[in-house]
Amino acid sequence: MPDRLSTASAPAAGIAFAAIVTTDLVGEMRDRHDLSPLATAAVGRLTSGAVLLAAGLKGRERISLQIASDGPIGGLAADAWLLNEHTIGVRGYTRNPRVDLPLNECGKFDVAAALGSGSLHVMKTHDVGRPYTGVVPLHTAEIAEDIATYLTRSEQIPSAVALGVLAGPSGVVAAGGLVVQALPGADESAVAELERRARALPPVTQLVSGGADADALIREIAGDLALREHRSLGVAFACLCSREKVESALIGLGTEDLQRMASERERTKASCEYCGHQYDFSSEELLDLSSRVG
Ligand SMILES: [Zn+2]
Repeated sequence: MPDRLSTASAPAAGIAFAAIVTTDLVGEMRDRHDLSPLATAAVGRLTSGAVLLAAGLKGRERISLQIASDGPIGGLAADAWLLNEHTIGVRGYTRNPRVDLPLNECGKFDVAAALGSGSLHVMKTHDVGRPYTGVVPLHTAEIAEDIATYLTRSEQIPSAVALGVLAGPSGVVAAGGLVVQALPGADESAVAELERRARALPPVTQLVSGGADADALIREIAGDLALREHRSLGVAFACLCSREKVESALIGLGTEDLQRMASERERTKASCEYCGHQYDFSSEELLDLSSRVG
């Protein structure tokens, strides 16, 4: 199944749905960052969560998720935005791409132990005005529940979130996710029925590896609710880095560091932590940047 985000609602019941397939995206991030299977699960869940939260984005808006925590993975980040009217661009990284721990007692990647305790930060950047930021302490540190807590507490929309990444030593087999939200005035019996269906639902990765696309994931959870389809968008790995941004970061190091780097070697490489692209600077260029330190 190609990567895709779909959204729909059940207007009579007051329920909104969004679902994603992100197998190719998570596979690309695994390859770009040489992620261990555990890091693939963690980065894959957070970036898939960013795509789910990007379902309502317009224009140049952007959603950024960051987890700051004390576990061995050392932090995670993901951004999602509209590349164009048909496609969501997304990127993500972790500080420790090779993190490895034993499977948990359910036989799954122990993302909670990799993260430890900390907090999830969600930032929405709008075209105009200040960005909106919400922070929730990590609850289960399995990421899906933490995003649900953020939506329910910070955005005041009762939400259930499922995220799954099935990764092995040879690659990503399936990845995807689902969010169900009770809108104001939602029909309580419909919400109770959805909770029952959610508990009985097979894991998202099982549905995706069985051939389900994003629309099928929504139908799977919605049962016989009458649905109105909304958006259907492609999902693609992308980055926002540029030579200018790397130059600003280098200028931020200060005159002393730049002059030292310029004297130590003829060429300095600075790589983007999100996409791995390497930007190359000569010592003359570094000296020129040091003259621009304000
Ligand atoms: Zn980049």
